[in-house]
Amino acid sequence: MVNQVLDQDIVFECPHCGKSMAIDPRGAGYVITCPECTNQMTVPQPVKASSGGMSATGTAVSAAAGVAGVAATRTPVQAPVGDLSQALMESSAKVKELTERLREVSARRKYLEHVHSRSSERIEKVRQEFSVIQGALDRLYDVMQELDAAED
Ligand SMILES: [Zn+2]
Repeated sequence: MVNQVLDQDIVFECPHCGKSMAIDPRGAGYVITCPECTNQMTVPQPVKASSGGMSATGTAVSAAAGVAGVAATRTPVQAPVGDLSQALMESSAKVKELTERLREVSARRKYLEHVHSRSSERIEKVRQEFSVIQGALDRLYDVMQELDAAED
């Protein structure tokens, strides 16, 4: 599987030593080290088979078939492509984490709104109790004034 050259692979040659190589299409643009001469090179963009019609597709397949037997050519490419999917996995995990946090924050906000409305109810109750006490004090004051008046 590792060394198998697929039809969609980018097939190219090392500009330094001319070694034929095949790389996963996701490897386009990566700087790789030639397994033959250890020089570095940039992986070219894949050639679109659809733009050239049927003959272009045929050429791409035969070119891939030509290097299918070369061992270990795909090996140096494994690392950068692995890094890329690792980065994609990490960023999707980060998005998931942020979504989770957003959900927590909105749940907390709802809770606080609930608590706030409950404490407003309590404050209102206390205010009503105070007005009852205030009314009782007013009546007590009136009664005491009446008692004072009666003593005179
Ligand atoms: Zn080379």
